[in-house]
Amino acid sequence: MKIIADLHLHTIASGHAFSTIKEYVQAAQRAKLKYIAITDHGPAMPGGAHQYHFSNLRMLPNEVDGITLLKGAEANIKDAQGNLDLPDFELSALDIVIASIHPRCGYNGSKEKENTKALKGAMQNQHVKVIGHPGNPRYPVNIKEIVGFAKESGVLIEINNASLISWARKGSEANCLEFAQEVKRQNWFVCIGSDSHFIDTVGNCDAALALIKEAGIPADHVVNASKELVREWFFEGSRKL
Ligand SMILES: [Zn+2]
Ligand SMILES: [Zn+2]
Repeated sequence: MKIIADLHLHTIASGHAFSTIKEYVQAAQRAKLKYIAITDHGPAMPGGAHQYHFSNLRMLPNEVDGITLLKGAEANIKDAQGNLDLPDFELSALDIVIASIHPRCGYNGSKEKENTKALKGAMQNQHVKVIGHPGNPRYPVNIKEIVGFAKESGVLIEINNASLISWARKGSEANCLEFAQEVKRQNWFVCIGSDSHFIDTVGNCDAALALIKEAGIPADHVVNASKELVREWFFEGSRKL
């Protein structure tokens, strides 16, 4: 399986990432991608982008040098109810909203029950299309319940390549595999993101693809695998409800 989209990237606007959109576009061309999602960290992240960054994404062209941009955010889950750090009117204008739990961004839970509740709360937000790196062992969740609720809510489960290869979120592999196997069992969908903070990893999702293969998820349930699925999920507003 090949991917034509990288659905999770951070630019210098995230405060702790090191490449520009233009550099990502060039890297995406080299990686033979058609789409990249610009998903900078929300304002609750120390150094994260200001709310105005997200409202002003409309200034960007939809396509740069043959690469289509998905204008998005990686919003922070900021409390136990799953509220996000960007208001709904900002989120509603974006092509892709990933909701994720990060340390030091407001949410202080750690137990499986509270983490599960927080993710479910975030998925109830109609603008959230992806749950980011839910396999993080720092925030254990009830995987069966999260996949079931994702399916009910039309939200994608992300298989985050950085969780599998980088120093961040170490020990994610077993949970990520369990997520992928549960997605397969419940006949649901995944998307893949490199979660790049520098251009060298754009489109490199080999570890995530290997895990998806191991779990037996077919290509037509991997949103990154075709233009049709990317369009359907992120540009046509369909959430498979
Ligand atoms: Zn993240
Ligand atoms: Zn990220």
